Amino acid sequence: MFEIIDHIEIELTADDILKGQGMDPARASDRVKDVVLEVLTEANSLVEPKAMAGKLPVLDFAHETLTFEGGIFEGPLVKRALAGATEIFLAVCTIGPKLEERMKELMASDMLKGLALDGAGTAAIRLVSQAVTNMLITAAENSGLKTGMKAQPGQEGWPIEQQRVLFSVLPAEKIGVRLTDSCLMIPRKSVSFVLPLGKDLREDATPCDFCSKRERCPWRREKQVAAG
Ligand code: SF4
Repeated sequence: MFEIIDHIEIELTADDILKGQGMDPARASDRVKDVVLEVLTEANSLVEPKAMAGKLPVLDFAHETLTFEGGIFEGPLVKRALAGATEIFLAVCTIGPKLEERMKELMASDMLKGLALDGAGTAAIRLVSQAVTNMLITAAENSGLKTGMKAQPGQEGWPIEQQRVLFSVLPAEKIGVRLTDSCLMIPRKSVSFVLPLGKDLREDATPCDFCSKRERCPWRREKQVAAG
């Protein structure tokens, strides 16, 4: 059901690292750019991209609650992003621990390089997450399905505690990722996400269109009356 994806190829550029540090490459100082160039090769050698991903069927959707085989996701973002899905992809991606360990060493001896490496890690996990998302979208399209809005536990509208639900069904420890008591992922440069898929995911649809309570929902009736 869940598979390890380890053929993820990314190559960081100096601009990626500057953006990972929250900088506009066009405005970065020469000193900062030099430091980034100094760490670029090492940063690429320390990134070990891996992901674990799989697909589970959706059993019910009602208001802000999506019940799928293995758990329940709840929250306003769940309603907005996952309504209409007949299945969901769950994924955890990481760049492994090596870059983070080296970054901590550098922070003690050469903070500018340490910060550059931290930016490299941020940029790398973004690229890995995008590459895995693209693979899942292609897999869905090959099965004649559409994908919807990607969402992450911990984003606004989806409590971070729901990471526990995701980690209870996805064996992330097999790619070396674990959850702390406060629901942060270790290694830190890891991301988790859920991607909805289905035949009926339409941009003009509203969550009420897919809700199992819609026929008896007083809020929906109120909205229909208000809309005339
Ligand atoms: S039909 Fe009612 S319960 Fe269902 S999503 Fe709409 S407002 Fe919420």
